[in-house]
Amino acid sequence: MSDATTTAATAAPTTGTCLCGAITLTIPAAAVPLKSMSCYCTHCAKNAGGPYQTNAMFATTDISVSDPQGQLRTYSILDTFSGKPKEKAFCGTCGCTFYTRPGHHEGKMTVVKTGILDAGAIASFQPKVELYARDRPQFCQALEGTKQFDTMPMTH
Ligand SMILES: [Zn+2]
Ligand SMILES: [Zn+2]
Repeated sequence: MSDATTTAATAAPTTGTCLCGAITLTIPAAAVPLKSMSCYCTHCAKNAGGPYQTNAMFATTDISVSDPQGQLRTYSILDTFSGKPKEKAFCGTCGCTFYTRPGHHEGKMTVVKTGILDAGAIASFQPKVELYARDRPQFCQALEGTKQFDTMPMTH
């Protein structure tokens, strides 16, 4: 058995829960985020109740959700940059958002809100880019080492 195989078999997955604990999202240890970003757009600020959200994008097939009480709800955000609806998934009891699925990726990408991750796992997904930096309030500093975009680059 190679070292790589041993690591993959023993590493614990990353989990995230909402405030009430009804729903658990699981990211396998082997899953690699395709993108990690902070976003200051209006949607993210309203959803966070603060200046920004930190997000990590995964292939939807990498993400699993345990929802034994059937609490997961979705809401379609229509006024998106791409013009295609973005689906937000949240807990119907406590309101925490787990992820969004941008319409321009046709559901194949899941953008996990890393603030829901447990056991300090948010630190593993340090943003590499900042989106909608033009909307960053003056009391927030740009995160050093991140690439800044005024809005949303078309590649996202
Ligand atoms: Zn909840
Ligand atoms: Zn945003």
